[in-house]
Amino acid sequence: MQDFRKQAAKHGVTLLSDGPCQFCGAGVEHGVAQCVSLFGELGAHLWREKDYAAAHLFSVDAYSLQHSEIAGRLNNHVHLLSLCLMLERGASSAMGTRKPAIEKFLALDRVWPSLEPPPAGARGSLTVAEIVATDLERRAEFARRWAESVWDAWQAHQPWVRRTLDRLLHD
Ligand SMILES: [Zn+2]
Repeated sequence: MQDFRKQAAKHGVTLLSDGPCQFCGAGVEHGVAQCVSLFGELGAHLWREKDYAAAHLFSVDAYSLQHSEIAGRLNNHVHLLSLCLMLERGASSAMGTRKPAIEKFLALDRVWPSLEPPPAGARGSLTVAEIVATDLERRAEFARRWAESVWDAWQAHQPWVRRTLDRLLHD
């Protein structure tokens, strides 16, 4: 998400530098830039946080889906497929495990429907701020809860996600 300013410009979104994050509502003081750096912090020590690392994909998907405007819109499709694989179909949430399914999806080379995100601030009940503030022992569990709340918030597109996965897995 290093080029988040570029993505925002592409979508015509003005980034705010004061107050809570304008996308996920995280209670930060300096807006989305601070939110992005919290997310960076979350993934910075995976090599020595093995238990949490096994759940980090939940965070990656949840964070991206709460920040559609700065993550690139096609990413919504990929992150929703990934969440559904993990939450409903028992796929692993460890880094590097979802690649085959995602590559198969991207190789389909079709025109994807536009998946309009839920309104900003209504994209899940947890944010990166709570996950970072949680004790390391409980962070994996919170990451999963975060992912579940984002998946619920995107409910309108769940039928598309499930249909697409069924097609991918049966082809
Ligand atoms: Zn945010």
